[in-house]
Amino acid sequence: MQNVNDIINNVDEVSLKHSFQDACSDSDFKAYVYNLNASEDTLMKYTSRLEETFSECKNCIKCKGLDTCKNKVPGYAYTPTAKEKMIEFSYVICKYQQEEDAKTAYQKNLELLEMPKDIKNASFKDMYKDDKARVPIVKYFKEFIDNYDKEDKPKGIYLNGSFGSGKTYLVAALFNELAKKGVRSVLIYYPEFLRSLKASFQTNYDEQFNYIKKVPLLLFDDIGAENCSNWSRDEVLGPILQYRMENHLPTFFTSNLTLDELENSLAMTSSGVDKVKARRIIERIKQLTTPLELISKNRRN
Ligand code: ADP
Ligand code: MG
Repeated sequence: MQNVNDIINNVDEVSLKHSFQDACSDSDFKAYVYNLNASEDTLMKYTSRLEETFSECKNCIKCKGLDTCKNKVPGYAYTPTAKEKMIEFSYVICKYQQEEDAKTAYQKNLELLEMPKDIKNASFKDMYKDDKARVPIVKYFKEFIDNYDKEDKPKGIYLNGSFGSGKTYLVAALFNELAKKGVRSVLIYYPEFLRSLKASFQTNYDEQFNYIKKVPLLLFDDIGAENCSNWSRDEVLGPILQYRMENHLPTFFTSNLTLDELENSLAMTSSGVDKVKARRIIERIKQLTTPLELISKNRRN
């Protein structure tokens, strides 16, 4: 007499076979699965998953681009591969997604610390063209790009101006342009960066600090908006600027403050007023940068 397990197995097999045969009544599905070079016994075990991959494959045949992708994971097709007596399933990238990824591959050269992610998409191409105030800055940046490969690297800028005028956007567009040529950069939202650096005292402080010090292009975004302390001025900003000056590493700043205003702000810490130390920082910034201004309407919504 057959034991219960054998009977159950038989019933399962019969039902697997039935659903496979049902699915194969669609001649296109049949052609698709037999093309996988797996035996019928193997194929049968995966009918519902094969139906899924078949449906994604059909989506892909008709597809015109990522905007209209109907697959579960857009830009990828759930795909079967026959292995010995089994079928493996994986998400395979499509040609449109590959093209898209290639377009943005350079962005890995651009690192954001405490900055909004969309700034990675800043570009000269998409820039508003309606504002004359931006012309001298864009001109400076074009020359910067032309001269970047020279041994004597061009200076960064100290870009001061009104809130929301597009200062950060402009520098990010420049860094993006250079990222396409393989130049690495870091954009730091300075007030927040100080907080995270402080929090890393027990962990990777030195690593973070040295990384910022040595990166080929650096932006200190919104300098002057932080609560200045002796530590941030004399132990962080001072040594980073000193190193970058000595090694001719282009350094950029954006700020709502003019250099004079920044000097006053750097002089005052909770420990008192130190004009000499503030002056020293300003001297380094002046050595490192060309001062430019961007006064324009607020672009933030
Ligand atoms: P700021 O740093 O001067 O305060 P942002 O660079 O943050 O100003 O710009 C404010 C907003 O306007 C952002 O959302 C930014 O993406 C957008 N923006 C600024 N300048 C441009 C530009 N030239 N082209 C397109 N978008 C811009
Ligand atoms: Mg900004």
